[in-house]
Amino acid sequence: MRHIVPILVTALVCAVLAACATSPTGRKQLILLPEDQMAELGIASFREMKKKQPVAEDPRANRYVRCVAEAIVGVLPAKWRRKKWEVVVFKDKTPNAFALPGGKIGVHTGMLKVAANADQLAAVIGHEVGHVLARHGNERLSQNMAAQAGLAVTAALLGGSPEKRQRTLALLGVGTQLGILLPFSRRQESEADAIGLELMAKAGFDPREAVQLWRNMTRASHGGKPPEFLSTHPADATRIRNLQKLMPKALTLFRQARAAGRHPDCDRLRPPVTAIGD
Ligand SMILES: [Zn+2]
Repeated sequence: MRHIVPILVTALVCAVLAACATSPTGRKQLILLPEDQMAELGIASFREMKKKQPVAEDPRANRYVRCVAEAIVGVLPAKWRRKKWEVVVFKDKTPNAFALPGGKIGVHTGMLKVAANADQLAAVIGHEVGHVLARHGNERLSQNMAAQAGLAVTAALLGGSPEKRQRTLALLGVGTQLGILLPFSRRQESEADAIGLELMAKAGFDPREAVQLWRNMTRASHGGKPPEFLSTHPADATRIRNLQKLMPKALTLFRQARAAGRHPDCDRLRPPVTAIGD
């Protein structure tokens, strides 16, 4: 039932307000918030995170993550490519990463251990940027607003009580650091997978490594508590099967990218795991 409500709400509000948009994969979405407001929210949330979370100063880790992120950003549609993207490595041993509207990318040092090479890190960053391109944060906020019709959410989002701000962060898809876990829907996850796979391939990263990344994720969870990233991004057989279904097209894009000279040589920048720390 919980899964049906957002779909019903989307259908209803779409009909009444004509507030429907189409995602990059052709899915109908409820989008109520203006994009510049989403960007403001993303920027404000990122600023807050940088205050709360220690940032990794290690120049090697930063150069490595930036190399991968810039290659992905370089193949985004013009509107997104033109943004000035900020990339920050957070000192946190949980394997996690996120991207926010407003051009913000965050990667935990813990993710650098699970993502065994630049191609795998590209799979992670591509996936997270995919959530932004498909406006999943906006969609989630919109569904939330529609579900609580009449609530003056927008004005209260940036200011408001700490609880309200935490709720906003959770809706944007971050906030695990703040003790809130609110996963994107399955449908949003597979959409981000599809977009991410295409982005990494276009940038010249080997898309087959996306499958390996999810396997590494699962392995990292054996014998202990699953990594945070996994509890919001379940790496089940369906996910891997879906990626494999998309692989032929991704491999074509990958070969075209390589033929066009796109060969991001980020692995040479990868710091040794012992140097990554926590
Ligand atoms: Zn995701």
